[in-house]
Amino acid sequence: MIHTQASFDLKALQADLPGITQSTDPQQLRLKSRDFYWYSPILDARLKDCRADVVLQPRDEAEIVAIAAAAARHQVPLTLRGGGTGNYGQSVPLAGGAVIDMTKLDRIIEVGDGYVRVQAGCRISVIQEAVEQHGQQLMMFPSTQRIATIGGFIAGGLAGIGSIRHGIIQESHFVRSVRVLTVEEEPRIITLAGDEVDAILHAWGTNGILLEFELGLVAAEDWIHCITQFASYEDVLRFGNVVHATPDLDVFQLSAVEGRFAPYYESLGSHFDAARHAMFGVVNRSHLEAFRALAASFGGEITLAMDEDELEHAELPPMHECAFNHTTLQVLKKDRGWTYLQFVMAQPFDPELVTRQMARYGDEVLMHHEFTRVGGAPRVSCLPLVRYSSQERLAELAQEFAADGCLVRNAHAFTLEECGRVADQEQIAMKGVADPLDLLNRGKSATIVGRE
Ligand SMILES: Cc1cc2nc3c(=O)[nH]c(=O)nc-3n(C[C@H](O)[C@H](O)[C@H](O)COP(=O)(O)OP(=O)(O)OC[C@H]3O[C@@H](n4cnc5c(N)ncnc54)[C@H](O)[C@@H]3O)c2cc1C
Repeated sequence: MIHTQASFDLKALQADLPGITQSTDPQQLRLKSRDFYWYSPILDARLKDCRADVVLQPRDEAEIVAIAAAAARHQVPLTLRGGGTGNYGQSVPLAGGAVIDMTKLDRIIEVGDGYVRVQAGCRISVIQEAVEQHGQQLMMFPSTQRIATIGGFIAGGLAGIGSIRHGIIQESHFVRSVRVLTVEEEPRIITLAGDEVDAILHAWGTNGILLEFELGLVAAEDWIHCITQFASYEDVLRFGNVVHATPDLDVFQLSAVEGRFAPYYESLGSHFDAARHAMFGVVNRSHLEAFRALAASFGGEITLAMDEDELEHAELPPMHECAFNHTTLQVLKKDRGWTYLQFVMAQPFDPELVTRQMARYGDEVLMHHEFTRVGGAPRVSCLPLVRYSSQERLAELAQEFAADGCLVRNAHAFTLEECGRVADQEQIAMKGVADPLDLLNRGKSATIVGRE
């Protein structure tokens, strides 16, 4: 349910928080009550009028503890916000109240051998730069790493660039421990470690305020960003299947897009010509020649191979900005008449099915697939662009993909359950412990709800 009427004492909350940066400026309230839900015309219509009543920006743990205590005292709903890059309105305050902008809790506390300790509001690219100085790197990151915070990724994301190598967040032991703040009149800090961490992963900030993480690191590698072009999209996908089946080939990203995306990727110039179809990859330099030879066996040609410094010098984007929902963004920047769908393809993944789907939909659908791994097994996700006509037509398309054996992940809903996630008992139990008054991100889950 979307609440529009405030039924709490906002003035009392504000008065209890002297010295903490606050804003009720309408422009700020609008800005900090939005995320990238506008990818979906359906979510846009449903969420665009949701507003926080105040934006709070704590600078340290003491300030956020004071906010949690005051919110509990005055029953004010709280919505945590990192970079605000979520796609399903995850950081939109459905029940009004306070949005907590976490981006000033941004300290890198310690970089050790195989781990980093960071505050939740730290931008992911900043963490990446810090650990690189120690010859290490993050196991994965979202394509939004320049804006997204680590807290937002762990609370809001599932997988990312690097998931083809290390799996999804949950299974990878990427998050070794987390400090969680409870929302009570006397807030407590709880430390979860090892498998206990699962209780807060992808819970959309509904069951605790994440303060600090210890993240696992791996040795930094010399990654080469590649574009490989093929005569048919089916060849791109067949090549992807073989790379997937060759774990010895060290790749960090594999994203397939068909040639009709090329006009939206002007910045790639002749590296991506519309007459052919592309695989955007990130490959270990020492495996580049093996990757090239494998591509050639499918008629593929590498049209770009550069490291990040060379890309920057050539004013070309890194390949992670051509992946996941950056691909969608690339198109929406030029034409807001498109939207998207999300599926997991059945395994073993059959590229011929995609050829049939392309023939079925013609210009209504543009194909984009991401190759990752879950439990060590290959997983292919499909994020097709769809020329938007109506909500009914989107539902019809989703049904047809489902009939093809694709697992639908609803990208046009704003609750965890409607988006296809099922909270487990640990997550529900964590809600009781960390948010007994049900103040955190109210309305985002039907199962992770407070006791009262
Ligand atoms: C162009 C584009 C590309 C994307 N690519 C990817 C991708 O590759 N992989 C991927 O997984 N996602 C991707 N996403 C989705 C999103 O960017 C990521 O999930 C991102 O990591 C969210 O980080 P954020 O800081 O922006 O979080 P926000 O959007 O601010 O928040 C996300 C969720 O986390 C909660 N939250 C934030 N901070 C805290 C905290 N400290 N404690 C508790 N809860 C908190 C919020 O309440 C919200 O529910 C993409 C989105 C866009 C628009």
